[in-house]
Amino acid sequence: MRRPFLAGNWKMNLDRRASLDLARSLADSLPEGRDVAVFPPFVYLDEVARALAGSAIRVGAQNVCDEESGAFTGEVSAAMLRDVGAELTLVGHSERRHVFGEADELVSRKLQRGLAEGLEVVLCVGETIEERQAGRTEEVVLRQLQAGLEGVGADAVRSVTIAYEPVWAIGTGHVATPEQAGAVHVYLRGVLSGMYDEALGEELRILYGGSVGPQNVSELMAVPSVDGALVGGASLKADSFRAIIQHR
Ligand code: PEP
Repeated sequence: MRRPFLAGNWKMNLDRRASLDLARSLADSLPEGRDVAVFPPFVYLDEVARALAGSAIRVGAQNVCDEESGAFTGEVSAAMLRDVGAELTLVGHSERRHVFGEADELVSRKLQRGLAEGLEVVLCVGETIEERQAGRTEEVVLRQLQAGLEGVGADAVRSVTIAYEPVWAIGTGHVATPEQAGAVHVYLRGVLSGMYDEALGEELRILYGGSVGPQNVSELMAVPSVDGALVGGASLKADSFRAIIQHR
């Protein structure tokens, strides 16, 4: 049985005070049987992790360097993230791929580095609107999934969660329908079963992301292949993220 996983990606939003207020007001809002994580900006990770220590909400990074250490000005290593209390990291978020030009190969190296350092990794995949309209959704997510998990064995992949985030749905208010999300999730699970085995394919979690809010989370979570949500905008306010975490 896959436990529902609700994750909040704060992106480059909030200041120190607002990050801590949000963390503190979420700390005791976790219902039984669900996993919750927040992904604050790097500079607030340490304090947010301390604010949430003792709560069941875990803290993750939005990005990680693919290198272990050294002369990589401006980068943050997986070991540093662990050091300040991060337990997870995102890799391959659509903004990293499309705004910062990260290619599959770099995403794969980041994923490997995160796992090597003991971080759980959320690997994001998703097609653009042009790719969907050209009927290329499966081809694109297949490429991103296979490249991202290149060289990751069956044991290690248990520390990976997949997030299907259609680029056209992120931050746009155009949420995928349950049918659209479900079709891609079923496809991705089939690919994972083929890459590993059916039991492992059934075990791995696949989140949906893209304009998830309190108003649509229940119908998305009702789709059997949707195991959780990666939430951007609606995770920035305690009331809306709490409603998502506690949805029925
Ligand atoms: C995201 O940042 O991963 C995301 C899905 O954003 P939003 O919920 O704002 O669409």
